[in-house]
Amino acid sequence: MKDIFLLGSTGSIGVTTLNILKKDKKNFKIRLLTTNSNVKKIYKQALLFGVKNIVIYNQKEYLKNYRLFKKKKIKVFSSINEFSKKKIKKSYLTINAISGVNGLEPSLDIIKNTKNLAIANKESIICGWFFLKKELSKYKTNFIPLDSEHFSIWSLLKGEDKSNIKKIYLTASGGPFLNSKLNKIKNINPKFALKHPNWKMGKKISIDSATMMNKIFEVIEAVKIFNLNQNKIGILIHPRSYIHAIIVFNNGLTKFIAHDTTMEVPIANTIYLDLKKYIYKRNKFAYNNLNGINFIDPDIKKFPLLKLLKYKFENTYLEIIIVSLNDALVKKYLEHKISYISIHNSMLKLLKKQYFQKYYTMRPKNINDIKIMVQRVNLYVDKYF
Ligand code: NDP
Ligand code: MG
Repeated sequence: MKDIFLLGSTGSIGVTTLNILKKDKKNFKIRLLTTNSNVKKIYKQALLFGVKNIVIYNQKEYLKNYRLFKKKKIKVFSSINEFSKKKIKKSYLTINAISGVNGLEPSLDIIKNTKNLAIANKESIICGWFFLKKELSKYKTNFIPLDSEHFSIWSLLKGEDKSNIKKIYLTASGGPFLNSKLNKIKNINPKFALKHPNWKMGKKISIDSATMMNKIFEVIEAVKIFNLNQNKIGILIHPRSYIHAIIVFNNGLTKFIAHDTTMEVPIANTIYLDLKKYIYKRNKFAYNNLNGINFIDPDIKKFPLLKLLKYKFENTYLEIIIVSLNDALVKKYLEHKISYISIHNSMLKLLKKQYFQKYYTMRPKNINDIKIMVQRVNLYVDKYF
């Protein structure tokens, strides 16, 4: 029996993970679930899977609800740190499916208590990889990237020498506005921006896919995880999203991984990494998915945020400022407080402010420094609009 900690169980990745685990209660036992504030959903999940520990991050919801769980003999904690203080058995696998930079601290706090850590939460990798890497090596915890492109690269690189890599391409669907001019959609309602053509995801990442911010994040993520020079990583638009990453090797070979546009594939193959017996139910090879693959170079006029790739990402405050600015701008857009075009314009404009620029050569020394910068950015954005 392999035990699993699932962080962010009430979100899109969390639910996909539970749907996989639901079919195999013989091999896996969930020992921890977490939510920010979706108490109703986590209550149902805990009962369905017989989970005895949960974390509710939102303080108000935590205080309001912990008695409800007590009645069912479920222990409720207010953070992973609090849960980790208990003497707990190391889990086989932890999946971090929390969204936003708030996912970093839970990862850091759980590393000592898990043999394998799979992270979908790209914001934490971008902002805190330096700290994650240190803890992973201190506690000999294996790391698995769950973002589909990075899971593909990670799988393709097994047994390969990194010096043989000529170029890695991350594919992007182009999102719902691939064929629209930016000035025609500058005031588009969030409900249209949320309609991703291929993937069903949480709200924040869906907007990031429309603006191409998601792919910019993924370039930074790849630079960090695989310790590669940024110019070795490119982006190709592939509207069907069937191929996830392509590696061109110096020896003349090119390899890529293709799978259906569902996170079930990388998640399940991570869960079954040791057991090696996952059977994907819809595994009927549809050759049409590979016929007439169409790759297009991304157009900077349609996706001006691509200009961000001229920055170098070297573990300074720059990454934290970009992630937090984007978090704040997307939140305001989803609340109808700013327009779609304003996500793009404000990001590019705010990054040039002297107030932020002075930090681009400075490095955070610990997680507290990161948290302070996140707060600083949020305050700045609130005052700015
Ligand atoms: P969702 O918004 O659907 O879910 C986020 C989860 O994190 C929920 O459980 C939510 O709790 C919890 N959460 C949110 N804020 C906090 C917080 N401040 N503290 C603690 N927990 C919090 O996101 P997704 O599942 O779509 O994405 C999760 C991560 O995976 C993101 O980083 C995303 O970029 C990445 N990813 C997602 C993919 C996808 O297909 N969805 C693909 C590749 C990567 P609550 O329910 O209470 O809000
Ligand atoms: Mg991805």
